[in-house]
Amino acid sequence: MSKALKKIGARQDVPLSELVSFRVGGPAAFVLQPKNEADLSFALTLCKQERVPVIFLGNGTNILPSDEGFDGLIIEMSGDSDAPVFEGGKVTVGAGYSLTALAKESVQRGYMGLERLCGIPGTVGGAVAMNAGAYGGEIKNVLRRVRLWRDGVFLWEDARLDEMGYRKSPYTWPGTIVTGAELCLQPDDGTAAETMADCMRRRREKQPLSLPSAGSTFKRPEGHFAGALIEGCGLKGASEGGAQVSELHAGFIVNRGGATASDILSLMKRVQTTVLSETGVLLEPEVKRLEELSCIF
Ligand SMILES: Cc1cc2nc3c(=O)[nH]c(=O)nc-3n(C[C@H](O)[C@H](O)[C@H](O)COP(=O)(O)OP(=O)(O)OC[C@H]3O[C@@H](n4cnc5c(N)ncnc54)[C@H](O)[C@@H]3O)c2cc1C
Repeated sequence: MSKALKKIGARQDVPLSELVSFRVGGPAAFVLQPKNEADLSFALTLCKQERVPVIFLGNGTNILPSDEGFDGLIIEMSGDSDAPVFEGGKVTVGAGYSLTALAKESVQRGYMGLERLCGIPGTVGGAVAMNAGAYGGEIKNVLRRVRLWRDGVFLWEDARLDEMGYRKSPYTWPGTIVTGAELCLQPDDGTAAETMADCMRRRREKQPLSLPSAGSTFKRPEGHFAGALIEGCGLKGASEGGAQVSELHAGFIVNRGGATASDILSLMKRVQTTVLSETGVLLEPEVKRLEELSCIF
């Protein structure tokens, strides 16, 4: 197994803290950044034959691993990916491409539709999987077709937009891998650059961007804002070990230095318990636990 994986460039014993934006987590037995669909297919077939657990990640910006690490293969599709091809407002792009880079490039070329998503630090594939959104925009608003791996086959599919909702899509691991996307952007009406700059300014002012985090820790509960509920319960600045409810934005848990994954998890549980008992609202994590993504197929 290790020999075959090494042949296609897999690394062994990689700290998960290098792969996720929280900068915590024990070692992963193997990590592979597939160069193309053939490498991806080869690795998946190998893991199926040898019953090795697999996890698929983009840029790891919505992930909480465990301190114990992961005894299997992590496939990471971020960085080296098919650059966007613009044919008018139709854009075809690889799943590993940076969403923020794509948003900036679209605006520079005179198109709108992605400007509100600029600053989300994940990949295009991760954005499709999570239906990422911000400031009133969502990737589903511009998504037309998705390039997928499912049941051992690569195919293009018209986006099933009616199955996409708040941080949810049918295009997510386990089971499905997005390898590319086709988006439909509109000609800029002259507001895109200003909107993008405004969204970026709001992020810089309101979010603790200088500390490792995974963005909003919890989903927005119906009729509430998670950050306001957490702050209302007096939890702004609360900490467990190196994990802290951000003093800038209570919706974020940050690693203020030396946090372990269990510090973050304990703090998340404390926040959930306190908010539930004081307000009756159950906060559902937006951040995904790495081990829950493990799949033997
Ligand atoms: C500072 C900060 C700010 C953030 N702001 C926002 C925001 O405004 N709005 C927002 O929506 N999110 C935000 N996030 C969270 C995160 O960036 C998004 O959820 C992003 O879309 C995740 O992309 P990723 O490539 O990092 O995916 P990962 O975190 O690696 O993975 C997330 C999930 O998607 C799956 N997945 C990833 N790639 C694929 C693929 N190609 N095919 C199938 N499944 C895949 C993974 O298995 C996992 O289940 C923020 C995070 C940080 C750290």
